[in-house]
Amino acid sequence: MRVYLALGSNIHPRHEYIARAIRLIDERVGRVVRQSSWIETEPWGFDSANSFINGCIEVDTELSPLDLLDATQEIERQLGRTKKSIDCQYADRTIDIDILLYGDLKIQTPRLTIPHPHIEDREFVKIPLEELRSNN
Ligand code: AMP
Repeated sequence: MRVYLALGSNIHPRHEYIARAIRLIDERVGRVVRQSSWIETEPWGFDSANSFINGCIEVDTELSPLDLLDATQEIERQLGRTKKSIDCQYADRTIDIDILLYGDLKIQTPRLTIPHPHIEDREFVKIPLEELRSNN
C-alpha cells in the first residue's frame, strides 16, 4: 500500500532526527520511495522558541494501518519523544510522525483517523504532500 507520512522535529539536531526516522521507517515500515522538500516552520498550536523542520515522505508498506501506527509510535519513542500530546497540548518534540494517507482508505477509530484530520489546515503538511502527489 502506498502511504504518506508527515515528519516534524523542533529539537536540535532536527535534520538528524528526521534522517534517523526515515532510516527506521525504511527498515521497519517499508521502502521510502520519495521525500518532499524540507521546510522550516513556526510551532503550530503552542508557543516555543524552537522552529520546526517539516516535510512528507511516500512509503510502500505491507503493514495494516494499526501496525503502521504502532511502528511509527515505536520509532517516536526510540528517538526520544517522551511526551504525547494530551488534549491538544502540543510541546517541543524530537520527532513527530503522522499518518496522512493510506491508499484511499478512510477510517475513524479512537486511535486512528485517516485521512489525517489536519491536512487541510496545516500548510506545513498540505504543501509538502501536494508536492509529492503532484509528481506522481
Ligand atoms: P500526536 O501526539 O500529535 O502525534 O498525536 C498522536 C495521537 O493521535 C496518537 O494517540 C494516535 O493514536 C492519534 N492519531 C489519530 N489519527 C492519527 C494519524 N492519522 N496519525 C497519527 N496519529 C494519529
